[in-house]
Amino acid sequence: MLLKKKEQKGNLFESIIKIFQSPYFRAFTGKYNKTTEAGLYTCVVCNETLFTSETKFDSGCGWPAFNDVIDQKKVKLTTDTSNVGANLLLLITNPGMIRTEVQCGKCDAHLGHVFKDGPPPTGRRFCINSASMNFHPLNPNTNE
Ligand SMILES: [Zn+2]
Repeated sequence: MLLKKKEQKGNLFESIIKIFQSPYFRAFTGKYNKTTEAGLYTCVVCNETLFTSETKFDSGCGWPAFNDVIDQKKVKLTTDTSNVGANLLLLITNPGMIRTEVQCGKCDAHLGHVFKDGPPPTGRRFCINSASMNFHPLNPNTNE
């Protein structure tokens, strides 16, 4: 009986991780969209620190956006051509359709996408799903 319970727990945890690792996971996207407080953003699955509020900016894309990662080694970037499929002509005429997927470097959780139209100094725009991150304010006692 005890063993069975343990087993169920393990399966549930694995299912949750699978949901967060899926690129199709799109729920609760707006949670941190307007957050301007100082603090750190960590991976919701493995707690790795990924972004800081210092690089967060209002991109108007409806997702929390950053112009840099806290450390380049903390994320994996993969070219995502799922928008285009095998249509080469479409790809040549619309190079913007090739997106770069951002994954957690530690646990592979899907975080969002990175684009090349962000503000200086990096010129990059990391659009990250709020549901993929936990926010840890630097001053948890301020009521802003
Ligand atoms: Zn992670």
